[in-house]
Amino acid sequence: MVHPYRHERIGLATIHGKDLAVAPPFRRLLGAEIVVAPDLDTDILGTFSGEVARPGPVVETCAIKAELAFRTLDVDCAIASEGSYGPIDRVPLVPSGVEIMAFIDRRRGLRIIETLATHRTNWRLLRFEAGDPRIPAAVKALGFPEYGVFVLRSDWSHPIKGLTRLDDVVSAMRQQADDSPDGASVLIADMRAHRNPTRMKVLRALSWKLAKRLQCLCPACGAPGFGHIDSRRGLPCESCREPTHWIDFEIDGCSACGHVVARPRKDGRRTASKLSCVTCRGA
Ligand SMILES: [Zn+2]
Ligand SMILES: [Zn+2]
Repeated sequence: MVHPYRHERIGLATIHGKDLAVAPPFRRLLGAEIVVAPDLDTDILGTFSGEVARPGPVVETCAIKAELAFRTLDVDCAIASEGSYGPIDRVPLVPSGVEIMAFIDRRRGLRIIETLATHRTNWRLLRFEAGDPRIPAAVKALGFPEYGVFVLRSDWSHPIKGLTRLDDVVSAMRQQADDSPDGASVLIADMRAHRNPTRMKVLRALSWKLAKRLQCLCPACGAPGFGHIDSRRGLPCESCREPTHWIDFEIDGCSACGHVVARPRKDGRRTASKLSCVTCRGA
C-alpha cells in the first residue's frame, strides 16, 4: 500500500540546520521530502539566550512556528521543533530537557505533537567573576569548540554568539563582566541545533518517533498519525478491586476524524499491586 505522504513535500521551519535530523526518517519511513522553508525568522518566536520572550507555552510556540513554513512554501504539511532545557524541578542540579516536535497537515486538519524527554544534554549556566582562572576549563567542559557557547552579562542580556576560539570566549567573558554592574559574566551552552551535536542527536531520535507515528494510518479514515493520545488510570487493586492510580488502559486516536481505540496495558497486567492501593494501605 502507498503511504499518503509518499512524494509529499513537507516544510520544515528551521534556521539551524534541523533538516539534518528530520529528513532521513521522513525519507526512509514515508518516502516524503523535507524542504526547509526559506526566509524564515524563527528567532521572532524567542531564542535560547533569552533575548526575546516566547509567546505562550512551548507546544503552542512550536505549532505557530510550523505554520510559519506555510508563508514561504507552497506545501500542505509542515514541521517545527522546540527545545526546553534547564535544571528540572525534582532534581535541581541535574540538567535535562524536553524536545517537542509539531507536525501540521492543513489539508487533512491534522495536528500531531510528539515529545521526547532527555537527560542527554550539555546544558549548563555558569556564572564567573571577572578573571576567574577556571573559565577556560569550564568552556572546554561544555564541549567547545565542537559545541557552541553564549557569553552574557550577569543579568542574562547582550549575548555574544558565534565565537570559535577559546581566547575570544575568555576575552568576551572579561568584556561582559566589565559591562555588568556586579563584575560577573554568564556562560551558557549554545542550544541551537547546528552548534550542539547532542541536541541534534536527540532531535534525530524525536524525528524517527514522529515519522513512525505518521506511518500509522487511522483504521476509520486512513489519515496518517494514528497513535497514543491518552492513558486512563484506575487499574483495579489485586486485593479489593478498588481503582488505583495505575494505568488501566491506553487510548489511541486520530487527530483528523476523532476515532479512538482502547488498548490494554503492554505488560498484560489486569490488576495493581495492593501496595499501591489507598484503600488497602489505609485499612
Ligand atoms: Zn481518522
Ligand atoms: Zn486494595
